[in-house]
Amino acid sequence: MRHSVPVSLSAAPGSPGSPTGPRAVDTLLADRGQLFRALFLSAPIGKAVVDVEGRILVVNPALCALTGRTAEELIGRHLDLLAHPDDIPLEDEPAVAVPGATPLDPHLEVLGERRLQRADGSTVWVQQARELVHRTNGDPHFVVLSLVDVTDRRRAEEDLVRRALTDPLTGLPNRRSLTDRLQHALNLSRRRGGPVGLVYLDLDRFKAVNDSLGHEAGDQLLCQVADRLRWSTRVEDTAVRLGADEFLVLAEEVDDIEGLRTLAERLMRVLDDPFHVNDREIVLSASMGLTLGLDAAPDALLKQAHGALTRAKAGGGRGRVEVHDEALADGDVDQLQLESDLRHAVDAGELRLFYQPIVALSDETLLGYEALIRWQHPTRGLLPPGAFLEAAENNRLTSKLGAWVLRQACTDAAGWDPDLRVHVNISARHLAEPGFSDLVAAALEESGLESGRLELEITESTALFAAEATLRSVSEVTASGVTLALDDFGTGYSAITALHRLPIHTVKIDRSFVADVVTEPSTAALVQGLLQLGQGMGLEVIAEGIEDEDQATWLRDHGCTMAQGYAFGRPAPLPASPEAASV
Ligand code: C2E
Ligand code: MG
Ligand code: MG
Repeated sequence: MRHSVPVSLSAAPGSPGSPTGPRAVDTLLADRGQLFRALFLSAPIGKAVVDVEGRILVVNPALCALTGRTAEELIGRHLDLLAHPDDIPLEDEPAVAVPGATPLDPHLEVLGERRLQRADGSTVWVQQARELVHRTNGDPHFVVLSLVDVTDRRRAEEDLVRRALTDPLTGLPNRRSLTDRLQHALNLSRRRGGPVGLVYLDLDRFKAVNDSLGHEAGDQLLCQVADRLRWSTRVEDTAVRLGADEFLVLAEEVDDIEGLRTLAERLMRVLDDPFHVNDREIVLSASMGLTLGLDAAPDALLKQAHGALTRAKAGGGRGRVEVHDEALADGDVDQLQLESDLRHAVDAGELRLFYQPIVALSDETLLGYEALIRWQHPTRGLLPPGAFLEAAENNRLTSKLGAWVLRQACTDAAGWDPDLRVHVNISARHLAEPGFSDLVAAALEESGLESGRLELEITESTALFAAEATLRSVSEVTASGVTLALDDFGTGYSAITALHRLPIHTVKIDRSFVADVVTEPSTAALVQGLLQLGQGMGLEVIAEGIEDEDQATWLRDHGCTMAQGYAFGRPAPLPASPEAASV
């Protein structure tokens, strides 16, 4: 070894009589080479002798192994060679000057854990300690640096922390992790001046999957849902599993409630495709509660989103999105924008008709389709009627929109199998407009559709509050052979009166009743009453919103003959040919 190290122990050498007392030390120091080898060269932990400016003078083999470098590569270099490039350079950290003490290189001031970079670029965590070696005159001469590899312990700790913050089933961040992330996002959002959005999501009828297919299948399904959420969110969003079948998406860069709605709709579509578990196809939907917050506490924001979710699920609703009320405070601006966009939409050809099958409950024969409007919005994607029909009611668009639907539906239906009928929803305002019956006649004539194949759907309140002029217009239409259906039957508490005012042909039992007809005895009794009422008055009855076999069986057993619902087909763009349309 080139450097002979004049050693003077900085620590007191122990009290007389102890095993390391002055006599023992004297004996050991008699052969410094042997002592150096024992304490330094063959020590199992990385050691270096470094001058006070941080230049490496001597290293032991353990340090070479730790850093992945040879002694030649290390000796003569500054300690910053070992520093991790992602750490703030120690030279930039403010120095803590201790009065009277000789300043050491900042790398030598570190006591405790730090990370280093090995020659191959990998990271190693070490526990750093040092021993100052003084000259005989008391000035610092060298530093003996000890670096103990603690990477394994560090990894184990990180793993523990990660596991504490991760949902073990799906691998998504868990509720505990959400609180931190949300707080962090809110701090950032205050600086950014834009809000943070939450989409609180609960799978509909997940319990039924668990009950019928078992918990293992339920777990598989949850993992698939988690994967879809993970892959469909943007980098600035975080999907979290809150527990059971509850998930949450934290959107950090969202402009307004419409932006958040767009995200919610995207998530909804992502869950729309059937899932496959144990060779079974499972169709799921989710209900969602949305909120936005800027200067809110994380807990308060979570409560708001949960409150909105509770409303979305109220009354057995499925696939519904509700927004926390205050988050809608600037909704007026959006509404105006929506109206002006919608005005262009009709002319720009952005409206679409989706068709949902109506079937015979006995053998699922296709009887016809209900036309349901959609808006292919240029920036917000495909919008359901709930997102824009109200805007149409607020201005003079009603008749323009209604006329487009009627004409388009008649034209489409004229190309189908002649046994299939088409149902078209008519708004109260449109029905009350002078010239409505002429419009129906024109739509039939232009398309060549036979009048008996057209059924107009109106709601109870439309029928109830219709003025005399409307009633006259309706009777002109029905006289031509067009039939009338009472939509959402039973929701208005005035069903019977409505039935007497207009020549109703069909009643459609609202899907809110169908949703819990199997599980709720009071609903079952009510639906039985509605079915008997319909039959007693010689009306056709269609049950809406049938989602599963149990509901279908119950309704079939109780005398309902026609049905519509996800169980038989979702609303979809027009099939290419009548054959392809069969369900
Ligand atoms: P509606 O006439 O009662 O139409 C049935 C609604 O229930 C549709 O929603 C349909 O997608 C949904 N639905 C059908 N089966 C199921 C099911 O099994 N489960 C669940 N959860 N939902 C089901 P959509 O398309 O969002 O339409 C909502 C409402 O908007 C319609 O209710 C109708 O009142 C109105 N609407 C749709 N298109 C038009 C239109 O062209 N003109 C007018 N004036 N109103 C329309
Ligand atoms: Mg309808
Ligand atoms: Mg309905």
